[in-house]
Amino acid sequence: MINILVSSCLIGINCKWNGRNNLKDKVVGLGNHYNLVPFCSEVLGGMPIPRIPSEIRGNKVFNQIELDVTKYFELGAKKVLEIAISNHCKYAILKDHSPSCGTHLIYDGTFTRTLIEGKGYTTRLLEKNGIKVFSEDEVDLLLKEIEQ
Ligand code: SF4
Repeated sequence: MINILVSSCLIGINCKWNGRNNLKDKVVGLGNHYNLVPFCSEVLGGMPIPRIPSEIRGNKVFNQIELDVTKYFELGAKKVLEIAISNHCKYAILKDHSPSCGTHLIYDGTFTRTLIEGKGYTTRLLEKNGIKVFSEDEVDLLLKEIEQ
């Protein structure tokens, strides 16, 4: 069976910064045909639930009280890559807009809910290592890719 790496919050696990989730039924439904491998890179990187929200600014990540939290994002990304490799995952469905899991857009570092083009730390590392990453709104694209 094909293993697909998935942001845990998309399948209803309460690992978001505010202790909630980003449940997406279509992502959960993938579990009927594929083996989902869930992860939360911010938790893997050592951050608690709940936590102060963070945004990427330049080549670092800061939380809303201006602490540099880059090291947690780097560690989380590395740990997710290890999980992907050990589970032979070629595909991932990640939560867009997150400083870890963002696939197309991220917040701009001003904490004003302003989105800009960009990818999260985990997404970047996974893609650098050949894993195809899709957002939660691209389940159909992923299925097309798998069927090819
Ligand atoms: S780090 Fe990824 S999996 Fe964890 S809450 Fe944020 S978007 Fe979801």
